[in-house]
Amino acid sequence: MNVLAIETTCDETAAAVITRERHVLASAVASQEEVHERFQGVVPELAARAHLERIVPILRKVVTESGIQPTRDLAAIAVATEPGLPGSLLVGLAAAKALCVAWDKPLVAINHVQAHIYACQLGRAESIFPCVGFVVSGGHTNLYHCHAANRWKYLGGTIDDAVGEAFDKVAVMIGLPYPGGLHLSRLAAEGDATAFALPRPLLKDRSTLNMSFSGLKTAVRYKLTGTGKQDFRALELSEELRSNLAASFQQAAVDCVVGKAELALKQTGLRRLCVGGGVAANDLLRQDLATMTERLGVELLIAPKDLCTDNAVMGAIAWEKIDQQDYSPLDIDIHPGLLRGE
Ligand code: ATP
Ligand code: MG
Ligand code: FE
Repeated sequence: MNVLAIETTCDETAAAVITRERHVLASAVASQEEVHERFQGVVPELAARAHLERIVPILRKVVTESGIQPTRDLAAIAVATEPGLPGSLLVGLAAAKALCVAWDKPLVAINHVQAHIYACQLGRAESIFPCVGFVVSGGHTNLYHCHAANRWKYLGGTIDDAVGEAFDKVAVMIGLPYPGGLHLSRLAAEGDATAFALPRPLLKDRSTLNMSFSGLKTAVRYKLTGTGKQDFRALELSEELRSNLAASFQQAAVDCVVGKAELALKQTGLRRLCVGGGVAANDLLRQDLATMTERLGVELLIAPKDLCTDNAVMGAIAWEKIDQQDYSPLDIDIHPGLLRGE
């Protein structure tokens, strides 16, 4: 049997067909970078409209490519209903409900943040649970004690910007295209991470698993413009300064993420760390997490690079619910905000 998973929480329209054994029969992602690029950020209204255009072609594509016959071969339709942009979530949920009615299938509601961490389960036979789950993405930077697929406890997270958001905003300051995380990390590879002294907010505070990235972002801005109000967009920056600033910022952000992951492992006593979300594709982060977990003798699972940013394959988490017959009624609503814990 198979599940058809739908993902429209932000600005990627994605669908996938995944077998009970977690094999991917088909997967497609339509990104909207060209829609939002000139605004240097996702415009919610435009995102919702772009989902409307793309959702049916994407669904057709994965159903055709998978070779399944939906009424016969699908166990359920799964869709991310939280957290995300309201207009974007509504498009995916409405499509999922329509298919449930048309094909007489049960509906499975997925939490997108949990799905990001579940990407670590793909291609692995043994369960990833229990573990410390860490989602580092464009909208979230959250630590969880994951007891089981259906039991998550929020441990701490950013109190302001998500780490991916900080990457994207710093990328804009140094003149990189949107979304800037990947571009910034490429530029950083040519720079000196010790060139600029940047703050690592809350890193040394062992009493909290909360993090903060907005002060770091502002500190980068001050390196560019001083504390005055000068517009950084008017600055002529040398290649050396840009790459050094990118490298220094990246190291500071990664230090904060790795430091809190280590503290979460120590506080919970858990022996496995699972990391997902767009920023988990960052090479320096992957490297520094490996060094830290090796030192602690803890198992490290990071989502495969192609499953870090938004996709529907991580919707395989739906199988954990299908196995429990944990279905949702067809009148369920979206939950744009994050439900943090139990
Ligand atoms: P959320 O999952 O919290 O709702 P989102 O879905 O928008 O947010 P993702 O698609 O998981 O976020 O990740 C996108 C983020 O990942 C962007 O901020 C992007 O800049 C960042 N990112 C992608 N690749 C890299 C990289 N190599 N290094 C750093 N950041 C990266
Ligand atoms: Mg995106
Ligand atoms: Fe995401």
